[in-house]
Amino acid sequence: MGMSQSSFLSPENPSAPRVETGRRVQVLVPLPLARAYDYLLPEGMDAAAGDYVSVPFGKRDTAGVVWSLSAPDAAVDPAKLKHIREVYTSCPPMPDVHRNFLERTARYTMADMGAVLKMSLSAPDALTPPKTVPAYTLGDVVALPPRKAGAHRQKIIDVLSDGVPRRGAEIAAMVGCTPAVVRAMAATGVIKTASVAAPVPCRVVDLSPPKLDFTEAQAAAAEALRDIAGQKKFAAVLLDGVTGSGKTEVYFEAVAAALAQGRQALVLLPEISLSAQFMDRFARRFGTAPAIWHSEVPAAQRRLVWQGVAEGRTKVVIGARSALFLPFADLGVIVVDEEHDASYKQEEGVLYHARDMAVLRARLGEFPVVLVSATPSLETMTNVRAGKYAYLHLPSRFGGAAMPSMQVVDLRRDAPARQKFISPPLADAIAKTLAAGEQSLLFLNRRGYAPLTLCRTCGHRFQCPSCTAWLVEHRRHSRLQCHHCGFSQKMPQACPSCSDEGSFAACGPGVERIQEEIQEILPDARTLVLASDITGSANMIRGAITQIENREVDIIIGTQIVAKGHHFPALTLVGVVDADLGLSGGDLRAGERTFQLLQQVSGRAGRGALPGRVFLQTYMPEQNVIRALAAGDRDAFLAAEGRERERAGMPPFGKLAALILQSPDEMKLDQFCRALAQRAPRYDDIRVLGPAPAPLAFLRGKHRRRFLIRSGRDVNMQNYLAEWLDGVKTGSSIQLKVDIDPQSFF
Ligand code: ADP
Ligand code: ZN
Repeated sequence: MGMSQSSFLSPENPSAPRVETGRRVQVLVPLPLARAYDYLLPEGMDAAAGDYVSVPFGKRDTAGVVWSLSAPDAAVDPAKLKHIREVYTSCPPMPDVHRNFLERTARYTMADMGAVLKMSLSAPDALTPPKTVPAYTLGDVVALPPRKAGAHRQKIIDVLSDGVPRRGAEIAAMVGCTPAVVRAMAATGVIKTASVAAPVPCRVVDLSPPKLDFTEAQAAAAEALRDIAGQKKFAAVLLDGVTGSGKTEVYFEAVAAALAQGRQALVLLPEISLSAQFMDRFARRFGTAPAIWHSEVPAAQRRLVWQGVAEGRTKVVIGARSALFLPFADLGVIVVDEEHDASYKQEEGVLYHARDMAVLRARLGEFPVVLVSATPSLETMTNVRAGKYAYLHLPSRFGGAAMPSMQVVDLRRDAPARQKFISPPLADAIAKTLAAGEQSLLFLNRRGYAPLTLCRTCGHRFQCPSCTAWLVEHRRHSRLQCHHCGFSQKMPQACPSCSDEGSFAACGPGVERIQEEIQEILPDARTLVLASDITGSANMIRGAITQIENREVDIIIGTQIVAKGHHFPALTLVGVVDADLGLSGGDLRAGERTFQLLQQVSGRAGRGALPGRVFLQTYMPEQNVIRALAAGDRDAFLAAEGRERERAGMPPFGKLAALILQSPDEMKLDQFCRALAQRAPRYDDIRVLGPAPAPLAFLRGKHRRRFLIRSGRDVNMQNYLAEWLDGVKTGSSIQLKVDIDPQSFF
């Protein structure tokens, strides 16, 4: 087994010291443990910090990383230490900067080191040598009888005459025949099977200048980005521009600049924006497909990307937030597209914010990070105003397409019919759009048919047995579902409480109900519901997007998954069914999020040659968010929002953290929370609010309580929490989670 010295030294730790054999080293394993553990190097085995190893842990073996070579844990008796089983030599060691990044991430999020490492060891089998795939070379039979040597066959011989083994598909593509021809020829012995290493994703990238003629504003922004990305030092830049202004094309130039220096590039996107459309645009600019990283990438492909990234051979990764934890050999730029997007916050396991950690990663790696948005977060805008982030602006849509016109529909005046949700002006606009052969999008951020079902006879409401939540009716499956825990039951015939039949009333709309309403108004229209539960996997969503692009759909009824990134030239009307939906509730960012979401959705209208129109249905036309949307005045909105947060000492002008406690045993939980509250250290500039029942006070069968901790900007929140929680034992029935910079407050 791999007893030899690791043969790779990455550019980021060129001369890592190596230890003598028989010594103790510390190994971190990807399990929820706070620190690395001591192991012994067997005789004849050699290892350096960063090397990937296999070690026994508990009853089994696990992969790990040599974290450091010193062994400060003198208390452990060397006789009790276990030996490292294997050093993986086919894989370059994890770079110092990456280990440093993982440590800083753990410290910031107060997560276990091992749990953070697990996010980097994210490709099964990536530590063993790359797999080979079947290929062909010239065989021993020298030539075919002339009459049998067809044109294709001769070309195949020509192609392989350089001696390089090639995959069947590759040969077929070069020759212009089907792979079956290649296979058939192998049967004759003229070519024979061999094997080659699986192709490295995104290895060769075309760095010639972009084929587009940039507008003046685009050219200036691209030039600035090339400049910044060429300097090999940390910088943070906000690229701000309305949807359709060409931000993607422009930030590709930052990617190109990093690649031109031989470094790698990472583009982060919200998972759902990883569309075929985006990949095509990348391919058009760089002449190859990017390496892709998200939750649905199959294991074999993950392994290739992980290895390519670790070896520095894969040049560009386009990925969801988890791509940030790939062990890049020499990363030179990160782009965070849609930087304001809430999905960058991971809400389970390690609670990190990918945008913030991307900035940290860039700082440690001494390269630039480019944040991109049409609706930047208040956090990022505040950093721009403070001069910490550079600012680049693309003020108008490419090709002179105008921004859509905004129309507020006051539902108190233009009320929909009873039990209907589409107002007369919106219905009229949809009909006209259909008649013109253009597409409409009706946006409602609510899955299912109706968010609440009750019995008209006795008032019974269907509630989830394991959550404080109503069950949502999904009529196309005739089921009631909990959107929090996944509980689901068949829609009963009779009321479980009073046994009355046919007494159920659906309260409020979901996307399915809007589709039904549209089908009544416009029976000939081709409608499509686009929601995560109906459309299912990311692949199916991509399929639906293609249908829309091909204009096989007239009216799209969608939740937030339609809001992002897509470019539908024939879509000219957007109707926001309930603009007030996100504004209630205690979320600190409710206004900001609603503004961003509705602005994004509005940006789907009129991206092509045709002008777009947006209808906002609301009961609160005088509300700040609605007024700002109608006026198209994002900056005034952000400024007002900022003043309010500053007055309240809320982020980004103060710091927040949350403690979330859950337990199936409510009494025990409350007792524990009271005791925890009492031991909270007291400081002038730190306020502890709670414990209070969480808005979802009961979730998946567990009771939930929350503390919210607010402090001044200069307080080290992590130190404070560490002091508070030092020595706290929750016992097995209570779970305690720390959420630094909470984004969700449920
Ligand atoms: P954003 O990312 O700001 O929404 P995109 O980069 O997606 O904008 O650009 C919108 C559309 O306009 C895309 O189809 C893009 O290829 C096209 N486009 C942008 N700038 C140019 C240009 N200078 N020349 C040709 N097409 C462009
Ligand atoms: Zn539930």
